[in-house]
Amino acid sequence: MTTRERLLIGGRWVDADSGREFETRDPATGEVVGVVADAGTSDVDSAVSAAREAFADPAWRNMTPAERGRLLWRIADLIERDADALAELETRDQGQPLGVAKTVSLTMAADVFRYYAGWCTKIEGHTSAVSIPGTMHYTRREPIGVCALITPWNFPLMIAAWKLAPALACGNTVILKPAEQTPMTTVALARICVEAGVPPGVVNCLTGGPEAGAALSAHSGVDKVSFTGSTEVGRKIVVAASSNFKRVTLELGGKAPSVIARDADIDAAVAGNLQGALLNSGQVCAAYTRFFVDSKRVDEFAEKIGAAAAALPVGPGMSPETVIGPLTSPEHTAHVDRLVRSGIAEGAQLVTGGTRLQGDLSAGNFYSPTVFTGVTDEMTIAREEIFGPVLSILPYDDQDELAARANDTDYGLAACIWTKDLTTAHNLAASIHAGSVFVNMLPFLDPAAPWGGFGASGWGREMSSNAIDEFTETKGVWINLA
Ligand code: NAD
Repeated sequence: MTTRERLLIGGRWVDADSGREFETRDPATGEVVGVVADAGTSDVDSAVSAAREAFADPAWRNMTPAERGRLLWRIADLIERDADALAELETRDQGQPLGVAKTVSLTMAADVFRYYAGWCTKIEGHTSAVSIPGTMHYTRREPIGVCALITPWNFPLMIAAWKLAPALACGNTVILKPAEQTPMTTVALARICVEAGVPPGVVNCLTGGPEAGAALSAHSGVDKVSFTGSTEVGRKIVVAASSNFKRVTLELGGKAPSVIARDADIDAAVAGNLQGALLNSGQVCAAYTRFFVDSKRVDEFAEKIGAAAAALPVGPGMSPETVIGPLTSPEHTAHVDRLVRSGIAEGAQLVTGGTRLQGDLSAGNFYSPTVFTGVTDEMTIAREEIFGPVLSILPYDDQDELAARANDTDYGLAACIWTKDLTTAHNLAASIHAGSVFVNMLPFLDPAAPWGGFGASGWGREMSSNAIDEFTETKGVWINLA
């Protein structure tokens, strides 16, 4: 039986005004996972009105920080209660291996709600050391208002949770807008919020595509957009949001360099880089994609990582042995394949992969883990975000040129360094332009660590105390004591 999902507006589940719906499909099989309402501009208007009313409603406005904290904790409890079913739904809708859905998506979604449950009672202003005689000054952190939370298709539940938890902790009201390719677990999260006792209109959920996202970004009743997705759409959101000077947080694309120094433990670097590059089939904004390998170690590294990549089991995310699941959509598979063809045409050498998988897997969007060596800085595969299972090895001779080469990109989300030498690690960590640098490790995320990018990778930071700043305004209050 196919699940049908509706829009959540003002605490009620409703059809889209137009009656339009769309299907979401399992990327491993092409089967329909759900049919969901397709929100248009009039639904956006209704959701914004509901969120504005809820923002003014004493049921939410006067809820104490301690009560809000308990509410967020309850949401985390309910995510954990439903973890198995939600993980399965994420795998069927998005494609990620079930183990990834359980240990990354579900764990992180619950953890981030618990982390921000604790923050609710710690959002404080301060007294300021002003020098005007006979006055005092203090600051208050106040919610921004109505926030549109627009998310991508790679980690739908986890990224929705990153935004929703701090937005609610700070007392905002929200409209969730999941990606059209993967709406199912975000709708389930909205349902959990209702069950947890979030007052009507505080959390609204609009399934839909670019039309709904664009209408939210331009709407005069929206005070903030928190967006994760492509740099191209991020740019459109900045333009649309300028109409009423919305606050904007952007988590955009990446092209993370991974430096493998001459002294690196190559076996550890192969294992770590393989996971760092291929988690969720490389559909990770922080995926390691440009491997700068010391030319004395490049053959050994290419051979070992090529063999390890070729041995990874590719298959449906629901199969327990699968490490590499399908890509999210046929369109995205074609995009990955186009870039792989450009690598071959521009002269990179294929170590392994480079093909769509056929046979038993032909109904899904499966692509073989692909390793190129002999890649140069100018090649398209070294410059464009591929967002798929494609690794590019670029040899280097001079360590002094590394930072400049690693920084020769518009992006600046994440970077990785493999070395046993502390001086190399600290010097490169300081000179590479990236929001997060990982030394001898995978690109881990934690609710307590800020996440975001430099340059074309975005504006602002998610998680940690940074997200509290991003979801509040600072108000200064002056008192005449004379
Ligand atoms: P996308 O930009 O195509 O879509 C993201 C969301 O924006 C979807 O919900 C979509 O419906 C909506 N949208 C589309 N057009 C819009 C418009 N004009 N106005 C407002 N909203 C609009 O991105 P995607 O293909 O779903 O996701 C992949 C991208 O996300 C990659 O570039 C990846 O690097 C990035 N990403 C970044 C991070 C990070 O933390 N920096 C995390 C995950 C993904």
